[in-house]
Amino acid sequence: MSTLAYTPVSDIKDVVNQVRQGFNTRASLPLEYRKKQLQAIKRCLLDNAEQWKSGLQQDLGMDLLLQTTEVEFVVNEINFLLDNLSTWAAPEVRSVPLYTQPASGYIIKEPLGVVLVMGAWNYPISLVIKPLLGAIAAGNAAIIKPSEISVNTARNFATLLPKYLDPALFAVVTGAVDQATELLKHKFDHIVYTGNGKVAKIVATAAAQHLTPTTLELGGKSPVIVDDTISLSTAASRIVWGKYANAGQTCVAPDYVFVKREVLPEFLHQLSQHIRKYYGEDPKVSPDYSRIVNLNHVNRILDLLEGQNIYHGGNYNQADRYISPTIIIEPEENSKILTEEIFGPLLPVLPYDHLDDVIRYVSNRPKPLALYIFSNSKSNQKKIIEGTSSGGVSINEVVSHVSCSNLPFGGVGDSGMGSYNGKASFDTFSHHRSVLKRSWLPDPAIRFPPFSQGKVST
Ligand code: NAD
Repeated sequence: MSTLAYTPVSDIKDVVNQVRQGFNTRASLPLEYRKKQLQAIKRCLLDNAEQWKSGLQQDLGMDLLLQTTEVEFVVNEINFLLDNLSTWAAPEVRSVPLYTQPASGYIIKEPLGVVLVMGAWNYPISLVIKPLLGAIAAGNAAIIKPSEISVNTARNFATLLPKYLDPALFAVVTGAVDQATELLKHKFDHIVYTGNGKVAKIVATAAAQHLTPTTLELGGKSPVIVDDTISLSTAASRIVWGKYANAGQTCVAPDYVFVKREVLPEFLHQLSQHIRKYYGEDPKVSPDYSRIVNLNHVNRILDLLEGQNIYHGGNYNQADRYISPTIIIEPEENSKILTEEIFGPLLPVLPYDHLDDVIRYVSNRPKPLALYIFSNSKSNQKKIIEGTSSGGVSINEVVSHVSCSNLPFGGVGDSGMGSYNGKASFDTFSHHRSVLKRSWLPDPAIRFPPFSQGKVST
């Protein structure tokens, strides 16, 4: 079944009002309530794990590991939030200056209000649920709108989540541009949008009409820089895993690789070897190789492939939404494959002679979501990190930084703004409200008029 009943646009105003009224009851202030909702999401995922996973399989042909991580990494994040929520939510004492004393200062963490979460289709569970968890932990009400492109997962959200979460404070809106456009007309207290930069501008413009803060989780071209101080086999094994998982439809997937010219032939050989090792001679029949989400994206990716120098792969079958793991050597600098986010299983590899040229190349382009360095040279690692900017960096690794609850995940510049994961999620959806509490002891006369030179200089 691959149809999705969209929420009627005319119902959306009532949905927003109802969730707003739910928040206004202040039911979500007690930590016990928030923990109960977090536990409820955990049950929703675990009780129905097979249904969620089968949705991912139908939407994207996701491999077993990714299906499992989509469900279980989210459960890990819930456990992390449950373990730490009481500490994060506790007031923080601050010292106050002498002239305000005797007094005490502290910061309380209050919820922002009603949060809107708009998700993308490529990891369609976690991209919606992880921001939702942060919103709940911080005591907010929320409306989620999953991507209509991952139809089966969106339907699972609509049918499963309301059975577990408090319907007075949490709602699922299904649909596409019409529903998103209607939602964005209303006032929210925070909006989290995950997707492409073009729509992010629409979201940010709509949010600005209400002075609503936004977290924008976008994409970009995440580079990999491989020097000649490392094991090429291990580097290739990790890069192939991170690039071709979910057929390259990962926001932090390696987009292109710069490799030291001397080791280019061996590196290419290792990439090929690892593609064969993971997906066999014909990845089309591998149960571990995903499909492209829809025909529009298949055609977009094939357009990027057009006229390129293919080292490995380059096979496709549009009817099956299949594009094989593909390696491309040295595309033209201004070709689309080097200027647009690939978001598919094509990996351009470019040789370099001097690290400074690579740093200049990366830093002259929009700031990427991730940057990957494969090097054992501390000075090369430092030089690259200091010479560039990106949402996050991994050294000798790709992709997995996203799942670390203690590392805030988010973009910078063109790759987005704001972050979530663990405490960063709690802080994103909280207002840190400063409180100064004065005692009733007598005030020093110095603070009140009439003033004189002698009085103010004492
Ligand atoms: P998408 O098409 O699913 O769109 C995302 C959301 O925007 C959906 O809910 C959709 O309904 C809504 N939307 C689409 N058009 C709209 C419009 N005109 N007005 C209002 N809302 C609209 O997802 P996508 O954009 O194809 O996602 C892929 C992009 O997302 C890639 O660039 C990828 O790098 C990025 N991404 C980023 C992250 C991250 O965490 N930083 C994660 C995943 C994907």
